[in-house]
Amino acid sequence: MRIDVLSIFPEYLQPLNLSLIGKAVTDGVLHLAVTDPRDFTTDRHRTVDDTPYGGGAGMVMKPEPWTLALESVVRAGGDAAASSCARTAPEAPETAVPAVVTNPAQTTEPGAATSSLTVGKHSAAPVLVVPSPAGEVFTQRIAYELAAEEHLIFACGRYEGIDERFIDNARTEVRVRPLSLGDYVLNGGEVAVLAMVEAVTRLIPGVIGNPESLAEESHTGGLLEYPVYTKPAVWRERAVPEILLSGHHGRIERWRRDQQLSRTAQRRPDMILALDPAQLDRADLAV
Ligand code: SAM
Repeated sequence: MRIDVLSIFPEYLQPLNLSLIGKAVTDGVLHLAVTDPRDFTTDRHRTVDDTPYGGGAGMVMKPEPWTLALESVVRAGGDAAASSCARTAPEAPETAVPAVVTNPAQTTEPGAATSSLTVGKHSAAPVLVVPSPAGEVFTQRIAYELAAEEHLIFACGRYEGIDERFIDNARTEVRVRPLSLGDYVLNGGEVAVLAMVEAVTRLIPGVIGNPESLAEESHTGGLLEYPVYTKPAVWRERAVPEILLSGHHGRIERWRRDQQLSRTAQRRPDMILALDPAQLDRADLAV
């Protein structure tokens, strides 16, 4: 998978160099790059924002630098896909992928005429995720959908957001998904992108050491996960539930399922109401 992030604060994305995502990049499972729209400005001050039409507080991100930045990463993704399709020699080495890299806009002269976005003919159009408190709420289901894509691009708005024409224009060449991290307002899209990229990339085969750990997670089967315990069996006079020490796998499984149901009913009754009755067995109904 290829992930491009457009941000005027590339340093915000540095945590993506760490832990499992950083390792996935080093291992070549993931290509990750950050592009600064300021590199696509033409004025001395590298201006990316201006006052809003119609008046009001705050500034709005200008469409041109964001569109040039988007076009450059779509082109780069298309070129990479085309060259990997054209590669016939089985021993051809994968290009080493640096950790989080910034795209210094070397392929686009500042002020160059806007070229149309071209998508490698062998791959689907990239998905442009626009983080926004006005977007659809990001969920585990959406994380799975995005994890199946070849090329994701995230456009991190700031201030009052990005001029709507950037999004309208992008729709002609990429699939746009405005997504919200939740019902609150952040200062910029970067924090939302860190969360979304982590949720998506851990679902890509090869990123998480033990893929079985994904199977019983909260939000995967419509329920929250059961409580977990480790050694010692008694800690500060608090004992681990006896059933977990019994070695009886069937009963442990039933206990965990009951815990999932009661915890979900208590903390997220909306999830219980949304459950498909076909997902429940007779023993579940007794909880
Ligand atoms: N004026 C906008 C509104 O009321 O919808 C909020 C703009 S916010 C201050 C600046 C940027 O932060 C947004 O463009 C978006 O990229 C990001 N952002 C803020 N809250 C977010 C959320 N809940 N989910 C995803 N992104 C968010």
